[in-house]
Amino acid sequence: MSAPTLAQRVASLVRPEIRALSAYHVPPASGLLKLDAMENPYQWPAELKQQWLEILSQVGINRYPDPGAAAVKAGLRQLMGIGEQYDLLLGNGSDEIIQLLALAMTAPGRTILAPEPSFVMYRMIATFVGMEYVGVPLDAEFDLDLDAMLAAVRSHQPALIFLAQPNNPTGNLFSVAKIRAIIEAADGLVVVDEAYTAFTDADSLALLDEYPNLVIMRTLSKVGLAGLRLGLLIGHPAWLGELDKLRLPYNINVLTQASAVFALANFAVLKAQTQQLREDRGLLAAALAQIDGLQLWPSEANFVLVRTPAGRARAIFEGLKRDGILIKLLDGSHPALRDCLRLTVSSGSDNQRLLASLAAQLA
Ligand code: PMP
Repeated sequence: MSAPTLAQRVASLVRPEIRALSAYHVPPASGLLKLDAMENPYQWPAELKQQWLEILSQVGINRYPDPGAAAVKAGLRQLMGIGEQYDLLLGNGSDEIIQLLALAMTAPGRTILAPEPSFVMYRMIATFVGMEYVGVPLDAEFDLDLDAMLAAVRSHQPALIFLAQPNNPTGNLFSVAKIRAIIEAADGLVVVDEAYTAFTDADSLALLDEYPNLVIMRTLSKVGLAGLRLGLLIGHPAWLGELDKLRLPYNINVLTQASAVFALANFAVLKAQTQQLREDRGLLAAALAQIDGLQLWPSEANFVLVRTPAGRARAIFEGLKRDGILIKLLDGSHPALRDCLRLTVSSGSDNQRLLASLAAQLA
């Protein structure tokens, strides 16, 4: 018998559900105005950048990082007003934290539940770790369909429930009464994912005092530090102590730790940029509403979901690309997102460029 080919070896060893996946697609963006990934468009002022580089030059790159990242956690605690009764767990982006949660809970027949459409990594990571995934459609306003959620909680008894607040890609907040009802009905752990917390006044931290089966996830990615890869989980030590056992010891590298401590000490700069983006979100939304044929949804995040006239989303996406602008094409990703595009809010001049290109194509 001849030796197996490489393709046969791969096929026999890699789990079929992994072979069936397509990798998380990050489109090439070289030379394009990037409005696809909810990044903050602003750089730091030159003086701040210089101070940061000085600090980085002192970092012991030859040494392993502080495994507990104590200085980063202290800065986050102070910035976010996190009480001592709660622990923090840091991840290489909040993506890694989703993975840690799933690794901790996975077992045959265990389920992750999330409303849909929502952040795609919830489903992908369920598959990575061999968990079942149940997506419950949002209602017509993209709020939680409470009856459907409660029925799904009862019948699937999910180990983990993810609620993105505000939600990606729809941009809206879910009703707090519905979030409470889901936490109360769940025997599993509910993760309120506040990735976009900087762009809304809503905040679920106080709910931690009421619900022992709740944890809150955040990230520094959307406030201007996407390149650092730093996410955090806030919750009771009983949960976080278990998750911490699964965390690879040095998951937050020395450059990220030093940069995060510096950025947190100078957070006023990022805060001001965020505030500017919130104002520009209002201006962008108002201008989008003036473009004939575009439907848009109110947003509490740093992006806006829009619907194009039927069947035209891809052509408009391609037209924007020809004009040097990359956005997110959502049409085809979920039935509720038919004809939809997601636009990251950027600086005033970037938004103007986007608006001009969109208006030209819809004229
Ligand atoms: N949660 C939500 C709702 C998101 O939209 C994103 C990023 N798109 C993340 C988590 C992951 O963010 P990061 O890994 O950069 O922290």
